[in-house]
Amino acid sequence: MRIAMIGTGYVGLVTGACFSEFGVDVCCVDKDAGKIQRLKAGEIPIFEPGLDQLVEGNVKAGRLSFTTDLREGMAGADAVFIAVGTPSRRGDGHADLSYVYAAAREIADTMDGYTVVVTKSTVPVGTGREVEAIIRERRPDARFDVCSNPEFLREGAAINDFMRPDRVVIGCESERAQEVMRGLYRPLYLIETPIVFTSLETSEMIKYAANTFLATKITFINEIADLCEKVGADVHDVARGIGLDGRIGRKFLHPGPGYGGSCFPKDTLALVKTAQDYGAPLRIIETVVDVNDRRKQAMADRIVAACGGSVAGKTVAVLGLTFKPNTDDMRDSPALDIVPALLAAGATVRAYDPEGMDEAAKLMDGIEYGQSAYEAMDGADAVAIVTEWNEFRALDLARMKKLLKAPVVVDLRNVYDPKDMRAAGFEYTCVGRGTDR
Ligand code: NAD
Repeated sequence: MRIAMIGTGYVGLVTGACFSEFGVDVCCVDKDAGKIQRLKAGEIPIFEPGLDQLVEGNVKAGRLSFTTDLREGMAGADAVFIAVGTPSRRGDGHADLSYVYAAAREIADTMDGYTVVVTKSTVPVGTGREVEAIIRERRPDARFDVCSNPEFLREGAAINDFMRPDRVVIGCESERAQEVMRGLYRPLYLIETPIVFTSLETSEMIKYAANTFLATKITFINEIADLCEKVGADVHDVARGIGLDGRIGRKFLHPGPGYGGSCFPKDTLALVKTAQDYGAPLRIIETVVDVNDRRKQAMADRIVAACGGSVAGKTVAVLGLTFKPNTDDMRDSPALDIVPALLAAGATVRAYDPEGMDEAAKLMDGIEYGQSAYEAMDGADAVAIVTEWNEFRALDLARMKKLLKAPVVVDLRNVYDPKDMRAAGFEYTCVGRGTDR
């Protein structure tokens, strides 16, 4: 089989490479000529563990190629996937579908023979029908079906998530298109992955319901963490105590500085907008969005409080900038709120992130960077752990203590044990562990 993947970003590149690993001929198409040039030269434009080997192997095997030319990409393709960005539309929070619709128009103008058009991007309910209408209007003669096939992979673990998913969701109303989709996901049938076939609308809704539910779970435990601090309880024990209940589940119950990243913030907002448009407001999700927004400022305030109420003229070392470890993705990272708030409060911020500093430098001004965690901490008045990269989990505490001007540690990811930290002489602040006041 052969497919074209339009959009060679975090989702398109991983998905394209994984399909080629399944034995499918994949051509990844992107408008960004620089990105395609780098890929052709064997360079991976994003950081995602394992992706370099996967791409290299499949390029060598002749199953994976890259182009800026959609016609070349779509030649002889059984299916074309749309994996372009759907960011928040500036001003109103709706998903910006201009890239998806532009791709639909380009597909219509290029299509030759029966093609399955698949929306892999996260798109609001109704988008698949609109893609169908756009293509039909431009090419009344074309033979095609539109499917929705939302992606659930997580950055940092994307390859495994794609290769061994909990389920695959396919919104598809034609037998012929279902056959093509079954063919593409054939290796997953062999490992008995549940494949859920639904209507287009249901599939689109599943993606938003999943992401907003997970964002709600995170926000729930964050608020419980705040209460734990007040009442003298430990949020980790609470999370374990409730998470062992099969109806609740243990995942996504880790407190922190609020959810960020390229999906949850924009998807919660987009679903809120869709619900308002349909006159069926989602008040829980509206509150989740509001609580999470406020939390990021509250985390900056927590760092200021740990510094004795003011950071003016002080240096704060910030460890971790990306929204989570094992990615270079800075989109909607909590650091984008926390760092500017510290700067505005008069601090000098010296940051270190293993993969995110180039991206961060494009998005924020006025930060100094260290080349290691220790360099960032050298002479600082406090250190804040904002992203839980593995290398921040086992820092040399004695060295840290020597480097810092004051032994102030604000651990927004709870990677250290409060007792150990206090025993080592640190003034240690974390999230939701009220038993250690
Ligand atoms: P991205 O910004 O990393 O990549 C999008 C790519 O599409 C860019 O390289 C851009 O140049 C390209 N593009 C845009 N219009 C094009 C066109 N007409 N022709 C060719 N290329 C075009 O975005 P992403 O993070 O991969 O997300 C893509 C979609 O997948 C979004 O809808 C997102 O919500 C969804 N999603 C993302 C994740 C994730 O973890 N990043 C997970 C699940 C779903």
